[in-house]
Amino acid sequence: MRYVSTRGQAPELGFEDVLLAGLASDGGLYVPASWPALPPDAGEWAGLPYAAVAERVIAPYLGDALGSNVFGPMLTETYAAFDDPDVAPLSNLGGGLHMMELFHGPTLAFKDFALQLLGRLFDHILAQHGRRLTIVGATSGDTGSAAIAACRDRAHLDIFMLHPKDRVSDVQRRQMTTVDAPNVYNIAVDGTFDDCQDIAKALLGDPALRAEFGMSAVNSINWARVVAQIAYYVWAWLRLGAPEKISFAVPTGNFGNVYAGYCARQMGLPIHQLIVGSNRNDILTRFFESATMEIRSVEPSLSPSMDIQISSNFERLLFDLYDRDGGKIEALMTAFRRDGRFVMDQNPYKTVRGLFRGARFSDEDTLATIGDLFRETGVLVDPHTAVGLAAARDIHMDPDIPMVVLATAHPAKFPDAVETATGVRPGLPEHMADLMTLPEQATDLPNDPAAVEAFVRAHAIAAGGVTA
Ligand SMILES: *Cc1c(COP(=O)(O)O)cnc(C)c1O
Repeated sequence: MRYVSTRGQAPELGFEDVLLAGLASDGGLYVPASWPALPPDAGEWAGLPYAAVAERVIAPYLGDALGSNVFGPMLTETYAAFDDPDVAPLSNLGGGLHMMELFHGPTLAFKDFALQLLGRLFDHILAQHGRRLTIVGATSGDTGSAAIAACRDRAHLDIFMLHPKDRVSDVQRRQMTTVDAPNVYNIAVDGTFDDCQDIAKALLGDPALRAEFGMSAVNSINWARVVAQIAYYVWAWLRLGAPEKISFAVPTGNFGNVYAGYCARQMGLPIHQLIVGSNRNDILTRFFESATMEIRSVEPSLSPSMDIQISSNFERLLFDLYDRDGGKIEALMTAFRRDGRFVMDQNPYKTVRGLFRGARFSDEDTLATIGDLFRETGVLVDPHTAVGLAAARDIHMDPDIPMVVLATAHPAKFPDAVETATGVRPGLPEHMADLMTLPEQATDLPNDPAAVEAFVRAHAIAAGGVTA
């Protein structure tokens, strides 16, 4: 399998190089040169465990990067750590509506599906090449803990995660700082999340540091993150008995999760509709309504992992909508950066409207959705999932086509909102019961790139270095 950049200028690469590169050298994102097809008898995978389904879905994207004797066991190990035997269990909410729980991984959010695999893929490929990588990231909460859980104890990786001191929730901070692993460094910066991000960008953009320490990010534009997420769309279809048509509702920020649903459809999964749920940061919903993508300022909401300005993975969809014309995408993105907006042409807009719908919900709507569901069914959902659920209910047209809502976080990750909505404070799963009492480890540093660089230099191992 070869990969091409959405901006059409960067060289074609194989899977390993795409994994290590992240962003393409022309500023674009890598996508497969062609879509592999699900076999006609894919419906017969229904009896297989999750890891085996994932192997069949993902393997065509790897080409000969890893042998099946490596990749199969890697997937089994990855998903064995999830705390439900079904890995992504489905439940029936009635009226054709189903919920798929994607929060049974180590940090209780769907990002574990991709990042747990990504950590292992990185480690394996780096070992083969005798290389090391230093991961640097900034987090306002969720992504940081998932990335740390993915990289901890990996022999060929060190991870430095910056968070704004005293500005992340207790649960989120503790999910990072209670990880006791020699290659994990939590840095509490005396500043805001934006300060943390600026420092991480400065370090990642420093050519000398990059060369010496093999600096990298694990952000959501990495193709390997998308590909891991395709598997659970196929899984949901199998669990519902391989119906003729199926729809999904996805609480959306960076467009990574719902784009994986689009990929599944490109592979032949009979997806009828993809519903995008937005909170008040509704750039995507406004786009689906108006064909205009327009940046506005980010406002905090009850679903913070969807508080974003630009949905980076959307560029991958645009590339297909514009018949894979990299020059067109380059021009659109340049205009978008310059003007803060672009308007899509009529033809691609018609195509996108044939598949996608968006719906936005305020914090009040979100709380009402959590409360109503609890009173009707006794089920607790987190605020992100509630946005997806509200969107599904808003737009679900045909009750004969099953609609699967992706539950992206465990309710206990957002206990305050859930308690406000229901009067019930959700408890952490048993295997995390000691989270609030374990000792924490973090280094306090000033809001100063030089201080953080000095810390990284003092603790990272050079890219060519050997590990014990
Ligand atoms: C990251 C995240 C999202 C948004 O997913 P995207 O792939 O960025 O669209 C939704 N819900 C939760 C809980 C998340 O952590």
